[in-house]
Amino acid sequence: MPASFFDDVNHYFDAASRHTDVGPDVLNQIRACNAVYRLRFPVRQDDGEIVVIEGYRAEHSHHRLPTKGGIRYALDVSQTEVMALAALMTYKCAVVDVPFGGAKGGVCVDPRAESASFLERVTRRYTSELIRKRFIGPDVDVPAPDVGTSEREMGWIYDTYKVYGPDTLNALACVTGKATSVHGVAGRREATGLGAVIALEHFLAEAEDVTPLGLETGLAGKRIIVPGLGKVGLHAALAAIDRDAIIVGVSVSDGALYDEGGLDVEAVIRHRSETGSLRGFADARFLADPDGILEEPCDVLIPSALEHQIRADNARRLQAKVIVEAANGPVDPEADAILREAGIVVLPDIYANAGGVVVSYFEWIKNLSHVSFERMTRRYQQIANNRLLNVLTRLTGKTLPPEDAAVLLQAPNEIDFVRTALENTMAISYEKIREPWKKKSLPDLRTSAYRMAIESVANAYALDGIFP
Ligand code: GLU
Repeated sequence: MPASFFDDVNHYFDAASRHTDVGPDVLNQIRACNAVYRLRFPVRQDDGEIVVIEGYRAEHSHHRLPTKGGIRYALDVSQTEVMALAALMTYKCAVVDVPFGGAKGGVCVDPRAESASFLERVTRRYTSELIRKRFIGPDVDVPAPDVGTSEREMGWIYDTYKVYGPDTLNALACVTGKATSVHGVAGRREATGLGAVIALEHFLAEAEDVTPLGLETGLAGKRIIVPGLGKVGLHAALAAIDRDAIIVGVSVSDGALYDEGGLDVEAVIRHRSETGSLRGFADARFLADPDGILEEPCDVLIPSALEHQIRADNARRLQAKVIVEAANGPVDPEADAILREAGIVVLPDIYANAGGVVVSYFEWIKNLSHVSFERMTRRYQQIANNRLLNVLTRLTGKTLPPEDAAVLLQAPNEIDFVRTALENTMAISYEKIREPWKKKSLPDLRTSAYRMAIESVANAYALDGIFP
């Protein structure tokens, strides 16, 4: 039988486990997928016909509760895929130190082919089924967006849970990735893409790691291709442009664009929404085969959509020096070995795309505490800043120019707390995976990240008195 996506994740797990002193019984428990709920439920279509929908929710690890992970809407969702994605969530949460086990859901529907009202009925029924089996709840299992779902679906999930769920006081925290108008948190929408670019910045900061690739340190001027310009890819591209990198290529499901001089990504998005395609975008080369973009010249590839984009059959043709896995599982194990041999550095998914779940964690905390991050501190901060300014004026006898005074008087908003906490988390975790990579001569950053995740989960089991 060919290896499944779940086998691929376990391949990485097993390779890293050899660099830990965790015993085989604990390793077996960590790598196992604890629970999978496979559902079939009827939903009425817009024409009145009833169809039977297939869905899943996998909870990979209960070493921390709730479990956490997105819900994917796509026709090819399968049990092994959600198990693999749930396992990645376990390791991802451990790498960025958020206190969740891993989970993932999937529903076999094509969100682009269906009406909003059909998708709403599917989402509400799927949520009701999860409630019935206690596969959702603020302290049990907390979904979020993934491929094919967004703030809209999260709002429907929250509303359904509020009506039927057992936990009304904390119902807000039953799902994250909600719109800010529906008790979401500022900065969640862009968190995964932004986190991936922060990860890249950390890698590019170390001359010792970057120079051997023939690159200079820093993001400015780097030529980047973003295969899969969806929600994650768009925000990764915008964050990279903000830091003076150049987006030379992008792809969507039905084509790609390449321009050595750099693409105006927002104009590309506008063109696609107006014409339905990337074709005809001025000044850029159009590729009818979206996979072709992977092989174009660039310094960095940020695959941002689906798994298994980089495989044994195309890995040797890549021209990038660095790959940032903003998607889950874009590089399969065979390709991973080829890239390592070729000296190409991969920033692994379980670190590079963790920004989403980090900010989901902030949203969950905000919802459970029933207070926004700035409410208790903002006014005090303004008063404290004002006092500082008054003391400075008294001591120096000088009055600051109004623009400088305004900077000093600024007090943080929710977005400031979220951004700085995300940056801090990504920085700390990078150090934690880079150091053993260098000092223990581990083969790559992926092995180091998995090693860290395995030790953290094993430690949680030990602290709970299981496998002491
Ligand atoms: N679906 C996202 C991921 O794969 C986010 C998960 C979450 O926020 O719970 O990381």
